Amino acid sequence: MKLEGIHHITAITGDAPQNVRFYVGTLGLRLVKKSVNQDVPNIYHLFYADEEGGAGSDITFFEYPGASKGRAGAGMVHRIVWRVGSEESLDFWTTRLAEAGVATERDGGSLRFSDPEGLDLELRVVETTDEPLMAKHPEIPEAHALQGFDGAYAYTDDPAKSAPLLESTMNFERESDSSWTVRGEQRGSFFVYDEAPDAPGIEGAGTVHHIAWSSPMEDHSPWRDRVAAAGMHVTPVIDRFYFKSIYFREPSGVLFEIASMGPGFAVDEPLEHLGEKIALPPNFEHLRDQVEKELTPLPDPRAEARAT
Ligand code: ZN
Repeated sequence: MKLEGIHHITAITGDAPQNVRFYVGTLGLRLVKKSVNQDVPNIYHLFYADEEGGAGSDITFFEYPGASKGRAGAGMVHRIVWRVGSEESLDFWTTRLAEAGVATERDGGSLRFSDPEGLDLELRVVETTDEPLMAKHPEIPEAHALQGFDGAYAYTDDPAKSAPLLESTMNFERESDSSWTVRGEQRGSFFVYDEAPDAPGIEGAGTVHHIAWSSPMEDHSPWRDRVAAAGMHVTPVIDRFYFKSIYFREPSGVLFEIASMGPGFAVDEPLEHLGEKIALPPNFEHLRDQVEKELTPLPDPRAEARAT
């Protein structure tokens, strides 16, 4: 069994409207699902991805309105890397981010910056045969659009703790003592540990909650058995409606999820209208009137860009 790289990464925001303005308005991703936290239905769970909402391009946010900023520490993902097509794309993004008031740091084929709440992001020129997973923003030429995740960096005090799980159980391929790639039939990603800072992490706005790896549909249940057999405390298979999930904390402390590659975001709304309305799982539908009143209205930066 092979995992198909990163499925999605979920982080925390304290300000959903600002978050939409940044990920849709500035980075040009598509808001493919505007849902609610299934444990706390009066707060948002927002999903941004490519035009089709594909696994491999999906960054999601739980909103805790007004949450104070967190800090990445041991056992947390601290930087997310997206692919772009060329050095010219990095020129484009340097200008576009500067116009949005975002400071950037260019280093060869890489451009680093942070989102408005301090989550570290990077665009990297990558040669790959993986399909580019792109969204269509009216101001962003297709040649420069983000192309899906390339990988992620996490903090640990000792990468050797995680190596057996990554290699023997999850079939990641070792690149060095602290870096791995994971590749399936369709796509792959890298996963690297950096040495953790002394200060412990604090979960909060601008920090990553968990990282999910992609499993083909038929492998999802066997993955649970495999992870459990390796001694991990793994949850039962949870039906997230858009995909099935299992969760466990890997030995360095990063919360891992393995998510199935389907059925996907078009299961409850047509592809051309993804993310326009608040999507509620069926057992939350009776709360719609109340939930819609309590949630902060969100901007639609794509429509605004089209109108100018
Ligand atoms: Zn998840």
